[in-house]
Amino acid sequence: MFFENSCIFAEFPLDPCDHIRSNDDLLNELATSPNARFVVIRQGEALMDRESGHLPEYFSAGEIKSEMVFLGQDLEHSYFAIEISDCNCGQFLDLRTIARTASANGFSPVPSLLARAKMLLDWHQRHKFCANCGENTKSAKGGYVRICPACKTEHFPRVDPVVIMMIIYDDKCLLGRSKHFAPGMYSALAGFMEPGETIEEAVRREVMEEAHIRVGEVKYIKSQPWPFPSSLMIGTIGKALNNVIEVENDELEQAQWFDKNQIQNVLKTGGDDKFRVPDKLAIARHLLEYWLYHY
Ligand SMILES: [Zn+2]
Repeated sequence: MFFENSCIFAEFPLDPCDHIRSNDDLLNELATSPNARFVVIRQGEALMDRESGHLPEYFSAGEIKSEMVFLGQDLEHSYFAIEISDCNCGQFLDLRTIARTASANGFSPVPSLLARAKMLLDWHQRHKFCANCGENTKSAKGGYVRICPACKTEHFPRVDPVVIMMIIYDDKCLLGRSKHFAPGMYSALAGFMEPGETIEEAVRREVMEEAHIRVGEVKYIKSQPWPFPSSLMIGTIGKALNNVIEVENDELEQAQWFDKNQIQNVLKTGGDDKFRVPDKLAIARHLLEYWLYHY
């Protein structure tokens, strides 16, 4: 069952089948069966079906030679992810483009499937050596762990948590823009969590660092896997305790308060080079709408 108000890249559509990941013989049998399906990734882009343009093109087992990651099963098929370096087999698209196309007419679980494939394969690419002793590591448990044969350390796939927050004061919300944004684009403030922080503490620290606003109550709203390369966006709404903004120039170019009329207007018109907000791909847009309709 899928939820229309879930963020894009959420709602993984398969049974991840943790109970069979340790069974190498069974995984091998599944990978070489006619019911195997392979999600193909090349440099972060996914191979897509030429005709539909929004469904992955699946390889058959005979074409696979590289290490693979087991993604899970649905009622008919077992799914694996593979990274290839070279292929003239079809069209590779970046995940943002795929996500926009796939979800143009409502929620689609396809971006979630591709995101998990990309995130796991990225991690394998970047963790070939043991961080403890430097030996070559080996993939195990269907690709959900890498084990060092020398020191026996187990290395697990990494997810980087990011807090993203709609900060509100009276009838207004705080949006900021960084230098690399498109003209007029304003979005929710966000930042990586630091070790030992709670979500609430990370929200308060980031908003203080970026805009010199003190934040009191913080409420969790929803989250979004973000496969660039492997983050989890933790969406919150925080109540500001003061309203005088002082922007820290390293992080933001500008930050300001917007009232509900301005937000309703930009959602209606789509915005322009003076003021626009992120589209539905971003959790920032979900938070903005949540605030608009629930507060
Ligand atoms: Zn080691």
